Amino acid sequence: MLRLDGVTVRFGERTALDAVDLEVAAHETVCVLGPSGSGKSTLLRVVAGLQQADAGRVLLSGRDQSGVPPHRRGVGLMFQDHQLFPQRDVAGNVAFGPRMHRTDRAETGRRVAELLDLVGLPGAGGRAVTALSGGEQQRVALARALAPEPKLLMLDEPLGQLDRGLRERLVVELRSLFRRLGTTVLAVTHDHGEAFALADRVVVMENGRIAQAGTPLEVWQRPASAFVARFLGFDN
Ligand code: ATP
Ligand code: MG
Repeated sequence: MLRLDGVTVRFGERTALDAVDLEVAAHETVCVLGPSGSGKSTLLRVVAGLQQADAGRVLLSGRDQSGVPPHRRGVGLMFQDHQLFPQRDVAGNVAFGPRMHRTDRAETGRRVAELLDLVGLPGAGGRAVTALSGGEQQRVALARALAPEPKLLMLDEPLGQLDRGLRERLVVELRSLFRRLGTTVLAVTHDHGEAFALADRVVVMENGRIAQAGTPLEVWQRPASAFVARFLGFDN
């Protein structure tokens, strides 16, 4: 479904991604873990087409994406800082996706209500996004990313600002939703527990490189390096 071949991204002297190879199979959920600045967001941005690679290739369904603009890639991206449209209400934000525009009004209304229920904001469609808490805004952004049912859904810290109870509930619901829809997911998180609960495979990043990729169990039981073990909180 998704393949990265030697993808490198530099910002001046700094190498944000250093010859990254990665494959994500259809219907798979992969979680990217790693310390701040290790290149997680850059990885998602380069797949989405929002960031140019200095070397290497991004392939989606076997097709090289160089020169393909973001809206033609069939991927959804929920940003770390969610970027909602302040001038639209909650429903207007959720229904923004291009696919949603093509369905009729009643159907769109039903889908929006369904998505708002799913993220724990039932009946919030008419509220102004500027009047929502940070966590509520994040849930609206999550509903918006899910709305067009993208083939590849990328989430950057989707549950970062939510309290633990809601996060644990949402992780379970998201996992069953992704299964049901057959969505392929590439998600960044800081939270090990979240990654291990959500992911079929986890990828641990260190300084723009992949330090380890494997099933949660493999990474948990056999960290590939001292860095991975330390990052998972093992050797102290
Ligand atoms: P965090 O967990 O804090 O979100 P991250 O793993 O998502 O971190 P990135 O945002 O991918 O990290 O950044 C990787 C590196 O690239 C960092 O050193 C960052 O400072 C640098 N970087 C990212 N975007 C830019 C940019 N637009 N201009 C210059 N440097 C950048
Ligand atoms: Mg980031």
